[in-house]
Amino acid sequence: MKIGCPKEIKPQEFRVGLTPAAAREAVAHGHSVVVERGAGNGAGFTDEDYIAAGAAILDTAEEIFATAEMIVKVKEPQAVERRMLREGQLLFTYLHLAPDPEQTKDLLASGCTAIAYETVTDDRGGLPLLAPMSEVAGRLAPQVGAWTLQEANGGRGVLLGGVPGVGPAKVLVIGGGVVGTHAARIAAGMGAEVTVLDRSLPRLRYLDDVFSKAFRNRYASAEATAELVREADMVIGAVLIPGAAAPKLVSRAQLSEMKPGAAIVDVAIDQGGCFETSRPTTHQDPIYEVDGIMHYCVANMPGAVARTSTIALSNATMPFMLALADKGWRQACEDDPHLMNGLNVHAGKLTYFAVGKALGIDV
Ligand code: NAD
Repeated sequence: MKIGCPKEIKPQEFRVGLTPAAAREAVAHGHSVVVERGAGNGAGFTDEDYIAAGAAILDTAEEIFATAEMIVKVKEPQAVERRMLREGQLLFTYLHLAPDPEQTKDLLASGCTAIAYETVTDDRGGLPLLAPMSEVAGRLAPQVGAWTLQEANGGRGVLLGGVPGVGPAKVLVIGGGVVGTHAARIAAGMGAEVTVLDRSLPRLRYLDDVFSKAFRNRYASAEATAELVREADMVIGAVLIPGAAAPKLVSRAQLSEMKPGAAIVDVAIDQGGCFETSRPTTHQDPIYEVDGIMHYCVANMPGAVARTSTIALSNATMPFMLALADKGWRQACEDDPHLMNGLNVHAGKLTYFAVGKALGIDV
């Protein structure tokens, strides 16, 4: 199969759909790979890296879309890219169609077959192509939170790990899923005193079994949340209720009870955020203050570490990409129901129930 990887064109997107390592594997499987000139630059991969992996470089996105049978990307195709998709072409990328009727309409009109990273599943009920980005955002959260806590950034001037004779910072993580667990591990590794709150007892049991030496856990009652928020130097928001907006777990009134200059890192901001005072920010201007509390609410945190994020994403997508290329989408999806769950659009029809329900389109 001819596999194409265009340069991402969404503003501030530095990741790329295929790493040279993934291109090399595709070539070893007998496929040909075309990559747009400069596509890997944002993630630190040069055109020469792709050529060494056996890929060919093409100058424009138009050439990539015209040549390739399968397009592998990161972000949902933008309007100009959607106009280049054609009947029978396979698109493998993040789509997030439910809140995006314009994109859905264009994909249906194109006649392409679109498999969305975010709805591919695994045996444990997880989302294997979303998890790597949650891992990145989780591990990044204490790092950006530590920066936010610095005096010059408006923070309370507290070092996460303390020093001999001075106690560590207190970090509260609300939500102990993928983001929360990775955030807690890194915060604990930086020497902070960490507590994780969750509403799922099985999840708390798991955290207790595996991480009880590194951090504490508590059941996320409103009372425990309020008490721990008051004591914290940093609060990381990491809750998720699948398919719903994040619940508001900390009100504006509670900010006045917090330590002045404490930091909030609301990772759940892409689902609306779990603090009443959260609003999305960008990497250019990531923090703002409300009632003396510093807020970091960047909606696409993995973009800050595009190289790590690209490699992590490509590691997760690669087996599926190879299956699609080796067998064709129909056979690959028949063989793997988890990949089938990724199928959102085929030949002018919506094939994913939740998206159809959200947009009022028959599936
Ligand atoms: P996850 O499903 O693995 O974990 C969510 C956890 O929240 C679960 O353990 C669940 O039991 C818990 N939870 C639900 N309601 C709760 C409540 N009221 N109190 C306490 N805990 C509660 O999800 P995840 O992959 O860790 O993602 C967490 C959030 O981070 C999501 O909103 C996701 O979209 C977001 N995210 C943001 C970025 C970013 O760049 N900002 C990147 C990746 C993920």
